[in-house]
Amino acid sequence: MEGKRRRLQSESQAQSVILLTKIKEFTRALLTDLTNGRSPLIVIDRFRSYCAVPDANCFCASDLPCGKEALTLRTKSRAHRLVVMLRVMLIVQKLLQENKHSSKRDIYYTYPSLFLDQSVVDQAINDICILMQCSRHNLNVVSAGNGLIMGWIRFSEGERKFDCISSPNSVHPVPVHVEDVQDIISVAQYILVVEKESVFQRLANDQFCNTNHCIVITGRGYPDIPTRRFLRLLVENLRLPVYCLVDCDPYGFDILTTYRFGSMQMAYDTKHLRVPEIHWLGAFPSDSERYFVPKQCLLPLTAEDKRKVEAMLLRCYLQREVPQWRLELKLMLQKGVKFEIEALSTHALSFLTDSYIPSKIERKLIM
Ligand SMILES: [Zn+2]
Repeated sequence: MEGKRRRLQSESQAQSVILLTKIKEFTRALLTDLTNGRSPLIVIDRFRSYCAVPDANCFCASDLPCGKEALTLRTKSRAHRLVVMLRVMLIVQKLLQENKHSSKRDIYYTYPSLFLDQSVVDQAINDICILMQCSRHNLNVVSAGNGLIMGWIRFSEGERKFDCISSPNSVHPVPVHVEDVQDIISVAQYILVVEKESVFQRLANDQFCNTNHCIVITGRGYPDIPTRRFLRLLVENLRLPVYCLVDCDPYGFDILTTYRFGSMQMAYDTKHLRVPEIHWLGAFPSDSERYFVPKQCLLPLTAEDKRKVEAMLLRCYLQREVPQWRLELKLMLQKGVKFEIEALSTHALSFLTDSYIPSKIERKLIM
């Protein structure tokens, strides 16, 4: 175990050395251009996780770039983007040299008057990852971690031990340094991903994992990178079926697609973040009739909801890979209503635990 840990450490050190060399080469080439009176030209690949043509014969899922973007000092906006990128690159260089970690927010607060906005820093970090062909955690830029886990699993993250098996209904945070996770042991039969913390806590209170031998994870809304990387790591290591339970509304559906196909913002790194094996367990728009959701729990879609659904219906991966999901999404628009997962529990508080989730899995009422 000690040997494995040392190997993981030396792997990440070697990765840092490679990145530091790349950064040095990049800045040297830039300086050479400037000292020779040439305006530097940085070409950055563009990636997208989907396009808006439902039956497109496109490459959106192939991890290939879909175009290029040029950064120069010639126009003011591009020049600012380049300056921000260089400044962030210097911060990253220091982090790697000192073997320290930082959040995107910390980086923003080092030069708020130059950066002006967090999104500018986020874009710079993405641009650096694309240029250096690496993932964000390779830059030692990490997020605080929002995800929670419980269930029949044990693992370690560096020196830290996560023994969920000894108490499967107690809640643990999802590890932030996913590259340091090892010794994963599990006796679970499946992994359940839930959108919301309130539903996760409901399952914990119901002792869901006592009767259901599974692992439950929540990203608490739109999942962050550690949660998605950790889920992917579990699926790759344990090869268990994965189910996803989200609200029956446009946001729930969008979160479901983020887990399965990745987000547009992180499209350049989707191959490390998506979980194509994930199945949709519910709540389907058609569930409102099947499970007798009372009329007062069905809320009308707002104009914004409708616009979001219409835009999502155009995403190319839905038609290509999960046409049955698309039909349900269409049904949401036709019915013109949405409902929360909790609306299923109006008949009995523990309905999700006692009936809905186990029976959906047993009867394969999943997509
Ligand atoms: Zn496409």
